[in-house]
Amino acid sequence: MLQTLRRIVQEVNSTRDLNQVLEIIVQRVKKAINADACSIYLFENNTFTLLATEGLNKELVGKVHMPVGTGLVGLVAQRADPLNLDDAQEHPRFQLFTALNEERFHGFVGIPITHHREVLGVLVAQSESRLRFSHDIVNFLVTIAAQLAGSIINAQATHQLEGAEPVRQSDSSANARKHVQQRKDNRPLTGQPGSPGIAIGTAVSIASSVILDAIPDRPITDIDDEVSVFYSALDSVRKDIKSLSYQLLADGLPTEDVAVFDAYLLMLDSNTLIESTVERIKSGNWAAGALRETILEHIKLFGEMDNPYLRERAKDIRDLGQCIFNQMQGINELPLDRLSRDSIIVAEDISATLLADIEKTNVAGIVLKRGSRTSHVAILARAMGIPTVVGVHELPVMQLDGSHLVADGYSGKVYLSPSDTVIKEYSRLISQEEELFEEIRELNGKPATTRDGINIPLYANTGLVADISPSKHSGAEGIGLYRTEYPFMIRQRFPGEEEQSKIYREVLQAFAPRPVVLRTLDIGGDKALSYFPIDEDNPFLGWRGIRVTLDHPEIFMIQLRAMLIASEGMDNLHVLFPMISTISEVEDSIELLERAFNELLAEGYKIQRPKVGVMVEVPSLVFQIKRIASIVDFISIGTNDLIQYLMAVDRNNASVAELYESLHPAVLSAIKMVIDGSHEVGVPVSVCGEMAGDPLAALLLLGMTIDSLSTSVGSLPRVKWMIRNFTQQEASDLVAQALEMKDAWLIKKMLTNVLEEKGLGGLVRAGR
Ligand code: PEP
Ligand code: MG
Repeated sequence: MLQTLRRIVQEVNSTRDLNQVLEIIVQRVKKAINADACSIYLFENNTFTLLATEGLNKELVGKVHMPVGTGLVGLVAQRADPLNLDDAQEHPRFQLFTALNEERFHGFVGIPITHHREVLGVLVAQSESRLRFSHDIVNFLVTIAAQLAGSIINAQATHQLEGAEPVRQSDSSANARKHVQQRKDNRPLTGQPGSPGIAIGTAVSIASSVILDAIPDRPITDIDDEVSVFYSALDSVRKDIKSLSYQLLADGLPTEDVAVFDAYLLMLDSNTLIESTVERIKSGNWAAGALRETILEHIKLFGEMDNPYLRERAKDIRDLGQCIFNQMQGINELPLDRLSRDSIIVAEDISATLLADIEKTNVAGIVLKRGSRTSHVAILARAMGIPTVVGVHELPVMQLDGSHLVADGYSGKVYLSPSDTVIKEYSRLISQEEELFEEIRELNGKPATTRDGINIPLYANTGLVADISPSKHSGAEGIGLYRTEYPFMIRQRFPGEEEQSKIYREVLQAFAPRPVVLRTLDIGGDKALSYFPIDEDNPFLGWRGIRVTLDHPEIFMIQLRAMLIASEGMDNLHVLFPMISTISEVEDSIELLERAFNELLAEGYKIQRPKVGVMVEVPSLVFQIKRIASIVDFISIGTNDLIQYLMAVDRNNASVAELYESLHPAVLSAIKMVIDGSHEVGVPVSVCGEMAGDPLAALLLLGMTIDSLSTSVGSLPRVKWMIRNFTQQEASDLVAQALEMKDAWLIKKMLTNVLEEKGLGGLVRAGR
């Protein structure tokens, strides 16, 4: 059975056409279990429709409909459980379709086809004899239905496109095809919101640029020639990137949004990249092959990290490698001549440089099969104001070229070949949104002050070396979280005191006198250093953050000294300790900081004692918050990790992503305990996790009397708008209500309603 199952799954997965997929399933399954009939009913427009059969009358494919709640098929779907009967005709829910020639069948087994808790359809096998199907067969059918649900979803997505090529010519398939097309708007594809906004337009598919991996090795005769090919490609890419970045700045993009290009330039100039490639050329490989090896080596290092943010850096390296290779080959991937203001770029993934090549006015939106909210394409798209949906796993990229799409960058939904009604509705939302933007734009330069006069400073989170440029446009009142891991990760060894201090000084200086929070090294868990491997069974519960640095005072002291040296002449350094779980860890960290401070004073540095903070990421701290807060200057809640540890949900695991809820009452209670406890001892609290950038969550944080919020620059304006439209008292009342509620869903619904009532719904969905 296992072999058969594998063969069927393989065959189905290599087929894109929905009719063919269904056809393969019914034929192969009928044969495998020796049934007299096998059929598939799929759910659409509130009915189950027969879309494939082997054994029943094929003429009726697409014509037999069972409204929800009727027939045995409806019962299987209702119960979302297999139904195995020796004589279906005896069952009160049995409905006879004489034209199907069903009279002779008695044995019946119906298996729900379920994808992410949703019943997509029912797989039915029937036999003439009055016998139940064996347990083995039922288990086989359950296994196959579970494995095929994803393939059916994929094939459905492809088939929803207008003009999809009919593969079969028979009447029955034409019926099925017509039927599938009628359900166009029923199930939009779902991805993640990458950049808010709505795009209505025509898809321009871009072929995947995974050419880098396929570059072959090739022996060379003239080493010098190849080295100069490599250098001149580097040179051209450098020039291209610089001119692009100037262009974008000239177009008014904030410096930090163009910072990705500074990061590229840094990588381009990195000794490791240049030297390793030249070394490889010298050992006899042509420039392209040598480049491939170097880039893939770097990609491997970053790509193996579980943290999505750091994994995205692997993509930057790949993008850069691809640019250099393209330069060598004279390739230009963008069909610029085909882009117009109603184009929606559709691709597996695209590079940030490629995106920057596009005139903003020349595309309506972007839809990508891969990527996440933290990818640079998403960051850049947000900066450029291009509505974007990322991570649409079911996106049939190449088949979409030329078809109509609606992409909703708020909900992450993508409508393929949308109906006139959908287009009309979204067009209405677009014009409403334009009015909203006008109002948001007016906030620039105004403080995040509530209606009752409470000021909530909004800070920015950064992580990239090049993210640090001061933001004149973002309105950030400082840096609330600078993740220091990155300078450590792009090197082949621990950076020294001087190297680190130079980097930290840049950011401190850029924002002085505004506060800058430098977090000490937070490696381990999902962030590894190639030169300091940590191999554990449970890395998230293992040696990470402060646990590592306290065990290695020599590394910790260098970093603390570097931070303090960097702060000389400025009084804006805040030092933040990550992954604290006990009071003694805080005490030990402060002791080391104090030692570094005194050493430097003795060495003649004119430095001020920095403010010291602790990240609340581990639930144990919630219960000792008063004691912890009383020995530091500030508390910063790292909700990304706090939620993962409170809810026991891996923050990087897509399969359990639905359980990762910042609005869960337990999460809210924990945060409230932290804020109240800290305030009792007079210590201010900030939130620096992603939660701070979500207007709904930020509203509750305001109600809990949070002192400041730190989030990515792109999220600041909406959060500011929300803050300026509420009083703290209103927000506190909402907190009281939320804490009485059962789950995150209800809380979200309540908050969304409140925003809608205030006319602020446009902050969290499409429209005004
Ligand atoms: C957090 O855990 O909320 C946080 C800000 O830290 P990081 O995302 O770097 O783990
Ligand atoms: Mg964290």
